[in-house]
Amino acid sequence: MEDRPFNDTSYERFLNEKKIMGSKCNHCGALSLPPRPICISCLGREMNWVQFKGNGKLIAFTSIAVAPPCMMKEGFNRENPYVVGVVELDEGVKAVARIVGMDAKRPDQIKVGTPLKAEFLEKMEGSQIKTSLAFKGPF
Ligand SMILES: [Zn+2]
Repeated sequence: MEDRPFNDTSYERFLNEKKIMGSKCNHCGALSLPPRPICISCLGREMNWVQFKGNGKLIAFTSIAVAPPCMMKEGFNRENPYVVGVVELDEGVKAVARIVGMDAKRPDQIKVGTPLKAEFLEKMEGSQIKTSLAFKGPF
């Protein structure tokens, strides 16, 4: 796996394998999720793969009622909103992902700080299964 380039394609392939893989800068140790070929902190170009356990907490969220076309196809709309959040993983990196297991129609019930666990969402895209990262809570 060390041979894979540090980009979104590799990230998605790892998700298909149920692994949350990001990059860690060899020089300054900064983490990036999804992985980046160049360190966002020191612009270093020597990266290592790092696997995240998928435990974290909700630090911000929004309930989305005006869905992009790909989400409308899944049945999300004004009557059936969904939640997207910023999750801080235990390893210290932040990820933006779907939040499942919470009532998007009652965002007042959703609490910042809620402990979350990674959940892999699978859907068919043509004849291929595409896995995306989501987080579920509370745990
Ligand atoms: Zn760096």
